[in-house]
Amino acid sequence: MTLALGATTQDSYAAALALLQDRPLVVLTGAGVSTDSGIPDYRSPGSPARQPMTYQQFISGPQERQRYWARSHLGWRRMGSAVPNAGHRVLTRIDPELLITQNVDGLHEQASPELAGSGRLVTLHGRVADVICLSCRTVSPRRDLQERMEAFNAGWAEAHADVESRPDGDVALEETQDFVVPDCEICGGILKPDVVFFGENVPKDRVARCMEAVDALAGEGVLLVAGSSLAVMSGYRFVRRAAKAGIPVVIVNRGATRGDGEAAYKLEVGTSEFLTTLAQRRASGSGRA
Ligand SMILES: [Zn+2]
Repeated sequence: MTLALGATTQDSYAAALALLQDRPLVVLTGAGVSTDSGIPDYRSPGSPARQPMTYQQFISGPQERQRYWARSHLGWRRMGSAVPNAGHRVLTRIDPELLITQNVDGLHEQASPELAGSGRLVTLHGRVADVICLSCRTVSPRRDLQERMEAFNAGWAEAHADVESRPDGDVALEETQDFVVPDCEICGGILKPDVVFFGENVPKDRVARCMEAVDALAGEGVLLVAGSSLAVMSGYRFVRRAAKAGIPVVIVNRGATRGDGEAAYKLEVGTSEFLTTLAQRRASGSGRA
């Protein structure tokens, strides 16, 4: 990094903190906040390109679902061992009006049960911890399905222990035709992770809740985006909504984002470090008790 850029970043950093320290906030987080928990961010600079399975592929036939669940079966074992990092842990102290996450890893919920319990956490794309039946719509815990997959595919995970991890609980695995996929125990229907796939829409009530919180920032609030490149419209639309209403947007992300042009401040720093500093500032800020 050049000295000139370093100086600019220092100024922006201080100004962004000053803006954020005692105003109502809506915080939108993405994969970048979970990288410090060991969950890789496939959109960050230098990451290999990747094509996640679309909803249309998932429902297109049994081979695609076999491919999905075999990979997910391995990925789950790794994601299951991830724990919240400092960035997740300080969110309760930052005390946003609403925390919106694009992440499906459940780490915000683990770190901030207070926010989740008071309805101030929206998992925009769902959670990999839940499974839904596409026929009877019953939602069940993923860990139960994991046990059934272990039972149906004894020794399978051990035989594929050295494949590469991917951010949403997926792995770089190609040979999946011998994997046995369990069906819904109630109706025999197709089981799908209760997460929003590419090609699928975020449930309307979830979007409405987020839009309402962004709109309520008008006048004094700020939208803070942490660790997202805003590549998908499901998150970017909140930035557009805020910018149109004259609500300042601060983006903290390593690498370019789709919202850079709409941001009052764009900081290329680590999210854990920034959120920790912000939490300290808000705890000692003049405007807050
Ligand atoms: Zn069912």
